[in-house]
Amino acid sequence: MSKFNPADNIQDLQYFGEYGGVNPSITDSSTYTFLRAGTMEGVFEGEVEGCYLYSRHWNPTNRYLSMALAEMEGTESACVMASGMGAITSAILQLCNADDHIVTSRTIYGGTYAFFKNFAPKFGVNSTFVDTTNLEQVKAAITPETKVIYCETISNPMLEVSNITELSKIAKANNCKLVVDNTFSPMIFSPAKLGADVVVHSMTKFINGMSDCVAGTVCGSEEFINSMYDVNDGAAMLLGPVLDSFRSSSILKNLRTLHIRMKQHSYNAMHLATSLAKDGYRIIYPGLESHPQHETMKNMFNEEFGFGGLFVIDMQNSEKANALMEKMQDDNVGYLAVSLGSYKTLFSAPGGSTSSEIPEEERTEMGLSDGLVRISIGLDNNIERTYQAIKRHIEAVG
Ligand code: PLP
Repeated sequence: MSKFNPADNIQDLQYFGEYGGVNPSITDSSTYTFLRAGTMEGVFEGEVEGCYLYSRHWNPTNRYLSMALAEMEGTESACVMASGMGAITSAILQLCNADDHIVTSRTIYGGTYAFFKNFAPKFGVNSTFVDTTNLEQVKAAITPETKVIYCETISNPMLEVSNITELSKIAKANNCKLVVDNTFSPMIFSPAKLGADVVVHSMTKFINGMSDCVAGTVCGSEEFINSMYDVNDGAAMLLGPVLDSFRSSSILKNLRTLHIRMKQHSYNAMHLATSLAKDGYRIIYPGLESHPQHETMKNMFNEEFGFGGLFVIDMQNSEKANALMEKMQDDNVGYLAVSLGSYKTLFSAPGGSTSSEIPEEERTEMGLSDGLVRISIGLDNNIERTYQAIKRHIEAVG
């Protein structure tokens, strides 16, 4: 049996557009006609399948992109959403009922953290935040009410790598679902193949890669994805985070180059992380042997796509972090902006921005200090030239 390869799977997908176009036609309709009234009734009653009804439910363009994402993640099915947060919140609200409990990694994207900490409790869903790289902590936090274990493959912003294989065993043993956010590492990790039940992404990042839209996806079993679109109790259907067809179509085209982009992002980040670490700076990057989960990652990843496009540099305090970012922007190394996974290098200091939702004492506990700069490396052609520029600016900051 040949080894699972997300890039080959996408390459093997063949769609013909309505008129034989090499890209599928874009659906420009919010609603769909039925030739017979009884067929429409059958769709609502769940007796008729395969008909399009209304674009918040499904439309052909979203279906094409979803099929490609399911191929990429090796899941039976997938759906697309208007944002990564739309994907995460819909998946969690579909899985959890009042009084259910979640065990989640404490180092996760700030918006997800805020959802678990402040929003989900309104519906009686409470979370325990643990270090998911410590499997004993995960086991100890599980209660009879635990429904979900949640983590990011490579976490935002500390770049901790979760051991998906072991976490999935814990989830199965305790009858809960392992939900993994794979935003930082599409193609690099195939969490479903390692045992995850549900895989989510912010497609705003690497998958689309162009910094021109916000989008998300949920990948999982056919049964789970179908449940999300149930007209009576499906989170995607009832909360309505639908992605516009024009965006779906452009993301599908960008997905076709994702494998090449991931390799270049990883190559560039490895070059910078290795060079700056050699210069004596404190760098967090899973590709470095000094990274605590370097070996874990090597045992789980799809090697040809590398260790990812993000690294963190510790500038010790926020003044130096800010000075470095401003110098790098002035010199067009990249942009001082949140988000990541773009063709262009993007950097921000997560302590004061994308992780500011996490209370200060918890940030201190996880090592997320105000001097950290998270850098998402772009598709620079000459990465040695970029390294020389960054080094010059770090030295100037002192
Ligand atoms: N997951 C991760 C790891 C993220 O970094 C982000 C956003 O930065 C999200 C989810 C949320 O995605 P979106 O901004 O597309 O809603």
